[in-house]
Amino acid sequence: MDAISLFYLIIGILVFDFLLDQLLGYLNYTWYSKNVPQELNDVYDADEYAKSQEYKKTNYRFSLLSSSISFIAILIFLFYDGFALIDTWARTLVNHDTLVGLLFFTVIAAAGEIISLPFSYYSTFVIEEKFGFNKTTIKTFIIDKIKGWLLTAILGGGILSLVIICYDWAGANFWWYVWILIFEISLLMNMFYARWFVPLFNKQTPLEEGTLKTSIGNYAQGVGFQLDKIFVIDGSKRSTKANAYFSGFGSEKRVTLYDTLISKLTEEEIVAVLAHEVGHYKRKHIIYNLIASTITTGFTLWLFSLFVDSATLSEALGVAIPSFHVGLVAFGLLYSPISTITGIVMSSLSRKFEYEADAFAKDTYKGEPLIDALKKLNKTSLSNLTPHPAYVFFNYSHPTLYQRMMAMREN
Ligand SMILES: [Zn+2]
Repeated sequence: MDAISLFYLIIGILVFDFLLDQLLGYLNYTWYSKNVPQELNDVYDADEYAKSQEYKKTNYRFSLLSSSISFIAILIFLFYDGFALIDTWARTLVNHDTLVGLLFFTVIAAAGEIISLPFSYYSTFVIEEKFGFNKTTIKTFIIDKIKGWLLTAILGGGILSLVIICYDWAGANFWWYVWILIFEISLLMNMFYARWFVPLFNKQTPLEEGTLKTSIGNYAQGVGFQLDKIFVIDGSKRSTKANAYFSGFGSEKRVTLYDTLISKLTEEEIVAVLAHEVGHYKRKHIIYNLIASTITTGFTLWLFSLFVDSATLSEALGVAIPSFHVGLVAFGLLYSPISTITGIVMSSLSRKFEYEADAFAKDTYKGEPLIDALKKLNKTSLSNLTPHPAYVFFNYSHPTLYQRMMAMREN
């Protein structure tokens, strides 16, 4: 395939992706006013339901606007050979491959950030504020952004340099080395996420002694689950939305509860949520997810290695001097249909795991408190009770509240 055809293939893929997203979003939008299933009538009262519908509509309009602007920006950038401009400019400043690549991605990331920053600000301080979720101050928002940029620069820059060095050294065989490297990094991140990254953004304190800790301890002991690290995180610093999650392996294994979760749920409901999380662990979902993402990464890298030496990838983006970093961008754009498919597979696997974790919670503890907890969590985040099935199929990592409730009551 020649460079011009490849360029139009990239445009075609971008247009298709955009239209698919818009179609799914629109279908979902048309279901906002559908009747709520009878079993979910107790989630909202009339006023709250009206508020949740307003919230969904506001977010729909907002994402329509923000995604259209990004889409148009990318098209303009491609038609005006934006990548070639950045590449040429970077080469006037530095002459080492790795440095050119780093500078190239820095400019792209900065451009992306400039486009997304106003939207991120509007979403937090106008939409979330209006619906009463926002607890973030301007100061926290700015500090979060700066920390995020630094983290991306250090981690992203570090990994990218290593990848380019691998390529310079091993040629098309680089993918093996990069695969192993990424696997090790993701293991480390999984393992030390709570110790290294969370403290940069939040304060976490061990759950204090009391009836909640005793109930959790009793449950964990009953199912033979060693759990000595339970932490409470100050999620209320940013939002009223609540959450709980597991992280780490072996001795680093820990459960993190948001302070907002503790203030909203009863003790029985919290133990039920925790039982669900223990279910993910006991059913080995964490290991399966790691295996699935390792296979996907390996496949992607292998596919990239087949094209990495071809000058056509760089030419398609209007860049005269073929390079690893421009090839990577072109490949990334072309890869998107495959990643849509792997995304669908991963989401449906994830939904299956959610059912299994729910069933585990019901078998080893109780189903009803988990249902009550899920209802409260849906209510406090003004969740959509009537999502469109096509939207769920493509985008939901969890089954809908209705599906989960029905599955728990059925068995
Ligand atoms: Zn889960």
